Amino acid sequence: MKYRRLGNSGLKISEIGLGSWLTYGGTVQDAVAESCIDKAYELGVNFFDTANVYRRGEAEVVVGKALKKYARESYVLATKAFWPMGDGPNDRGLSRKHIFEQVHASLRRLDVEYIDLWQCHRYDPETPLEETLRAIDDLITQGKILYAGVSEWSAVNIREALHIAEVKNLDRIISNQPQYSMLQRYIEKDVLPLCKREGIGQVVWSPLAQGVLTGKYKKGEPFPAGSRATDDETRRLMGRLLKDENLDKVERLSRIAQEKDCTIAQLALAWVLREPNVASVIIGASRPDQVEENVKAIDVELTADDIDRIEQILQG
Ligand code: NDP
Repeated sequence: MKYRRLGNSGLKISEIGLGSWLTYGGTVQDAVAESCIDKAYELGVNFFDTANVYRRGEAEVVVGKALKKYARESYVLATKAFWPMGDGPNDRGLSRKHIFEQVHASLRRLDVEYIDLWQCHRYDPETPLEETLRAIDDLITQGKILYAGVSEWSAVNIREALHIAEVKNLDRIISNQPQYSMLQRYIEKDVLPLCKREGIGQVVWSPLAQGVLTGKYKKGEPFPAGSRATDDETRRLMGRLLKDENLDKVERLSRIAQEKDCTIAQLALAWVLREPNVASVIIGASRPDQVEENVKAIDVELTADDIDRIEQILQG
């Protein structure tokens, strides 16, 4: 495994991370989830991402239980909050009240004494940013969380958070968790340039476009049995990723993967990791062999020529 510093912080995380959205605590049986986590850990993955809202806390329970057998200092546990956890007006968002309650609930579910990276799952326009940042600063002082990050915040939101932290002398966020893949590149416009300048690292979600960038979905063919797209609810979350135009691109990318003697998934992950501001690509895995395949992406070296050829395909 290879490790990168997360932004300007001293925290080092594995280039491949493992997440638990739509998989652990629900669709994937607990024993299989544990074998995926074990496989990842064995292969040097030290970065595990979850959220309070994934299966209403069940994902945190499964991840915490699987990691419990390993030395706490050997892994970096990331979770987040923002999305509704109940029907009450304070059961969502980034108020001081909800953040404190959710950090405590996550600590209980994960069965740990501290969370390494706690993230604001989205931006909350209904809470003053200073209230959120002050709550985070207090949690860091109390040792309940060690670092804080955000997810899917715009460049404007991130810039504002850095400004408030500086003038109010509060802890600075160290990371952003955006969707980023060959098929989803909006962060390249504003978010990445700002984060590079400011030393905020990216931990990327859906780097395989939810499985589309593995090549297993083919135009005009039925979805492979057991895949995410076979379930109506999870297919809805895949949105337009499965459109024919993308499947054509994946088909063309498969030729480059073949030449480089790697799989399409490995090529897609290596492509995201070509960006030095990305500290980790957070994959999902419903089976241990997916972890095994994806982790090998760290050994795929992309030349300038490979990147140009990939770009031509992506520009379509
Ligand atoms: P990916 O793009 O890596 O998709 C993962 C899915 O693709 C797997 O569950 C599996 O699905 C399939 N897959 C993975 N590897 C292979 C392979 N080698 N061969 C065939 N199929 C494969 O990421 P996710 O969409 O799962 O997101 C990853 C993580 O990012 C989440 O778990 C979560 O932690 C985080 N996340 C964060 C969000 C945020 O708002 N901050 C939003 C969404 C995710 P299957 O076998 O079922 O087809």
